[in-house]
Order: sequence, then structure tokens, then C-alpha cells
Amino acid sequence: MHNKPSVTVWNEYRHEKSDEDVRSVYPDGIHQAIAKFLLEAGFSTQTATLDEPEHGLTQERLDQTDVLIWWGHMAHDEVDDAIVDRVQKRILEGMGLIALHSAHFSKIFKRMMGTTCNLRWREIGEKERVWTVASGHPIAKGVRLHFEVPQAEMYGEFFDIPEPDVLVFVSWFAGGDVFRSGCCWQRGFGRVFYFAPGHETYPIYYDKNIQQVIINACQWAADHKNPGTPFGHVPEPLERLGN
Ligand code: ZN
Repeated sequence: MHNKPSVTVWNEYRHEKSDEDVRSVYPDGIHQAIAKFLLEAGFSTQTATLDEPEHGLTQERLDQTDVLIWWGHMAHDEVDDAIVDRVQKRILEGMGLIALHSAHFSKIFKRMMGTTCNLRWREIGEKERVWTVASGHPIAKGVRLHFEVPQAEMYGEFFDIPEPDVLVFVSWFAGGDVFRSGCCWQRGFGRVFYFAPGHETYPIYYDKNIQQVIINACQWAADHKNPGTPFGHVPEPLERLGN
């Protein structure tokens, strides 16, 4: 038994190996940078990457995971559909999913949304201002009404997602675009959160505001437990019917 929520940070972990610009920002990989601040925040953390057997997402690992964080970009298509099926099943059973940045195009996020998850984008290092539009929501706890990411990739509307259950953050970019950058959904018994900031060549996951949002999202997703609702055939009605 564990009392601390167990978070598995999954990263494709390709850019960091092939691109010096990315390696200089995340020498140990984006997954390690995220796992570090989650560990310091009191979560039990593990990491998993694409090139591990079963992408590091064995059934045993998923069964022990309360919240799965997903970062991927250049190799979405290399994720095995059987693993996507397995992750989806666990989410429907109650595991949380936090999809970060370019994970909007990951197989698992598209599977959970059922839409293209397409968007508009521009990479010129412009300023992003993140606005909290759901003050009082657990994911916004301790987060300022607005904060800035000095250099970000622009992700802009239209973003082809189902209407979020709760929209927590909206981003404005210096170039004029806006984006629904923090969105919550429930799928089955699992909670799903998409958070847009996090392009691989900018040190966004070292930003304290960004870290606070991800920490809050992990807690929010872990707090929702599968109540064990029984499904299936119900031969005996609750009320006596007829004669
Ligand atoms: Zn990006």
C-alpha cells in the first residue's frame, strides 16, 4: 500500500538524444526534470520511456500508477497500439492522465478525446501569458491570476478537442493568438488534464508556476478514486413489480 500518489512520468525521450539544443536544456531528459520536482513535492515518482520494453508501461507498472504524465512529439506513431489500449483501459478504470504540450497529438490523448486534437502553432519564442479562468479549481491552487512564460511555442485556436468539463487556463501569446491551454475532462473513472506549455527547447519545466500547475494536476487526478461501481446484468429489481 502507498499513501503518496504514485506518478509515472512517460517521455518519448528522442529529442534529448538527437538534438544538442534540447539536450542542453534537459540533459537527463524531460521526464527526469518533471520527476524531480514531483518527488520534491511528495509524490512517489517513476519514469518510463518509449525505447524501454513495452515503452516502460507494463501492466504491473500501470496497475501501480495513480497518475500518468505523457510527453511526446516526434515519435507518436512508434507507440504500440496494444500499449495505447492498455493505458486507455487503466484510465477508464481510474488512473489519471496528464498530457503535456505536443502530447495533444499523442495516440493516447487522441484516443481519450475522440477528435483530431489539431491546432495552430508557431515557433518564434514569443511570450505566453497564462490566465487562470477557473479560480478555486484544485489545479489553480496557489497559481496567480496570470503569469508569463518568457519564451514559448505558440499553440493557438482553433484547438479541435471536445468541450472541456472545466477550462482552467487560457493562454495569450505576444503574437496575438489565444489558446485553451489547461483543460479537464473525465473519461470513465479517470481524470484527464491537458496542459499546453512545455516546448522542448525552452526551460519551461523549470518554471515554478508551471511546476505548481503540474503538481496540482497530479493531486487532482489522484484524488479521484474508482468507487468500484458494479456493472452488468441485474436480474432482481429493487421494487416488487406486478403480481
Ligand atoms: Zn513544441
